Amino acid sequence: MDISRLEQDVPIVKQIKNGEEVFWLNDSKKPFAEAIADSPLTMEDVLDAAARLDRFASYFKTAFPETMKTDGIIESPLMEIARMKEYLQQAYTCEIGGKLYAKLDSHLAISGSIKARGGFYEVLSTAEKIALDHGILKEDDDYAIFASEAFRQLFSKYSIAVGSTGNLGLSIGILSAKLGFRASVHMSADARQWKKDMLRANGVEVVEYESDYSIAVANGRALAASDPYCHFVDDENSKTLFLGYAVAALRLKKQFEAQKITVDADHPLFVYLPCGVGGGPGGVAFGLKLVFGDNVHCFFAEPTDSACMLLGMATGLHNKISVQDIGLSNRTVADGLAVGRASGFVGRVMMPHISGCFSLTDQRMFKLLAALADTQSIYLEPSALAGMYGPVLLAQHADSFTIQNATHLVWATGGSMVPEAEMQKYYQTGKSLL
Ligand SMILES: *Cc1c(COP(=O)(O)O)cnc(C)c1O
Repeated sequence: MDISRLEQDVPIVKQIKNGEEVFWLNDSKKPFAEAIADSPLTMEDVLDAAARLDRFASYFKTAFPETMKTDGIIESPLMEIARMKEYLQQAYTCEIGGKLYAKLDSHLAISGSIKARGGFYEVLSTAEKIALDHGILKEDDDYAIFASEAFRQLFSKYSIAVGSTGNLGLSIGILSAKLGFRASVHMSADARQWKKDMLRANGVEVVEYESDYSIAVANGRALAASDPYCHFVDDENSKTLFLGYAVAALRLKKQFEAQKITVDADHPLFVYLPCGVGGGPGGVAFGLKLVFGDNVHCFFAEPTDSACMLLGMATGLHNKISVQDIGLSNRTVADGLAVGRASGFVGRVMMPHISGCFSLTDQRMFKLLAALADTQSIYLEPSALAGMYGPVLLAQHADSFTIQNATHLVWATGGSMVPEAEMQKYYQTGKSLL
């Protein structure tokens, strides 16, 4: 690839290559009506996914009693974080118009990250299909039978495999094993030891790699391809994962109504989503566009050294370019975001919908982590703080957007499963930088 040519054609590449923090606005974004007309996925697909998750609510209540209090629906709290807004305004001398909220996927039941959306959904879809194909399930059955011995017996003949930097492995591994599948997780070098330990404790096979995420995925995919009884969850290409994430938007609409938060042309919604390979933030953003149309503006946030979606979208090359191609290391403390090559599927589907992308340093994520803990007593993993810089950037680019009556929503993608001692280390690192 001729990188110097690319730098001339797309000047922002040079800044990305230098490891600078950048804010990129997507000038090929289209009005929603136009963008959705060309989309390969629709609202029907998302409603179908939502209905499937509803059917499984009774399974969750049976197999994971901690989901009783939410009636078997796995959904995260929406919380105003006004003290954090104050902090950001002071620390960055800016005026963040409107109100600041966090969507606490960090506190999703069972696996404590945004992966409980797409990951669980794909495992459940796979289980449902196998059960229907074997004639032991009808769609109007009570899905609590998925916890029965007969179902576990059936699933024990099948395996589910996935490549992961950590959290996707956790969500796929824990739920697959619970249903009775053999589960194997191919983990990249960045994956944290405690995540591997937790999976092994749940009876999941963990295959470790010295290399990064793309290699772990490629190996997992190749091994699974030779086995007809193995379903490979393809984080780079899966429409199923994507739709599982998208359901979040339907749920969020209800939470907004309950909290009397208006989203319309005079009260726009700005959403800041940490982005790794793209499925999680892409799916959520896609759902949000379906629900709120032109009144929502979605931004992807990435570490400076792993800004693969930013690079793919800004150049239009999507998965045809990696951060390593321009000399970046793909090393970051934000393990959920340590991805060097973005999903081509997500990049192409989301290109007409997304308002922009930005990148930030690991140091800044650590600072935001400590500040959020101090101001709101919310403890997140570093990846989950990537979006927190978004409201500041928007305030600094206020000429491009009207933010006075805005709702700013930071998608807090993970953290509640991080062991106490690890979290203390994150916090102390952030504190020392403040
Ligand atoms: C996986 C993950 C993301 C990003 O999701 P992708 O689908 O990889 O883009 C963000 N934050 C956390 C904590 C994650 O685990």
